[in-house]
Amino acid sequence: MDTPSPAPPQAAFVRAYPPMDPPTGPALWLLLRDGEVLVRGGALIESEGDPRGDGVNRTPLYLGTLGGRPCLADDLGPQEALPEGCRLVPLRALFGQIGEAEFALAGYASQMLYWRRTSGFCPVCGHEAEMRPGDWGRRCPRCGHVAYPHVTPAVLILVHDGGARILLGHKPGWGPRYSILAGFVEPGESLEECVRREVQEEAGLEVADLVYAGSQPWPYPHQLMIGFTARHAAGEPRVDAEELDDARWFTAETLPDLPPPVSLSRQMIDAWTAAQTK
Ligand SMILES: [Zn+2]
Repeated sequence: MDTPSPAPPQAAFVRAYPPMDPPTGPALWLLLRDGEVLVRGGALIESEGDPRGDGVNRTPLYLGTLGGRPCLADDLGPQEALPEGCRLVPLRALFGQIGEAEFALAGYASQMLYWRRTSGFCPVCGHEAEMRPGDWGRRCPRCGHVAYPHVTPAVLILVHDGGARILLGHKPGWGPRYSILAGFVEPGESLEECVRREVQEEAGLEVADLVYAGSQPWPYPHQLMIGFTARHAAGEPRVDAEELDDARWFTAETLPDLPPPVSLSRQMIDAWTAAQTK
């Protein structure tokens, strides 16, 4: 007997690439300025036409469809008046306020608008760069240099002692907040090498038993966070004060102030705590 394949979820985001044109009908408008997203009534703006009204030289990016609705992104000019009934909200503040798919879409829009703002000219010869059909790359018609939107990988490391404790670090300026260790991947480095180096550099520890824990786009402006858990293998926590001014062990009962729930760091800590208290 044939089993009907499940219908795709209504909220699925389907990517589009230039020079595709958006389908007609009401669109989701991602209008951003300085890391803030324009919302109406606390939700992303859905509108048949440009909610800013008619304007010259407007070239919104068509990013794809969400639940069948075309998604268009554009920068709001620094002096541009906000449409009636709309306000700007910091991207991060939208977490938990709008749907997960909408939140991810707003982050994607932010990254793509950043890319458009920063890729207009060839970094080799300075000539104006052209859009490449079929992807988001830009090509220089003079020297042929091609560049793609930035994705900068960074690892998050939840170091545990194999028992009831995890290592959390504190950076100068963080106030009472502690978090798991983190660091950018260097060129020529695997994710595993990066985990071992960062834990050694930031906390003076050796780790083993690395386990992948998930990933998260972090569009501020274009990181990809890749989470691992790792077991403490040798050494006592010590900090070099350059990156961290404290690193110490905590149990689920003694956790300090933690990063906000939007972050994979926090989600990893919460997952570990939940496993401890099972
Ligand atoms: Zn060039």
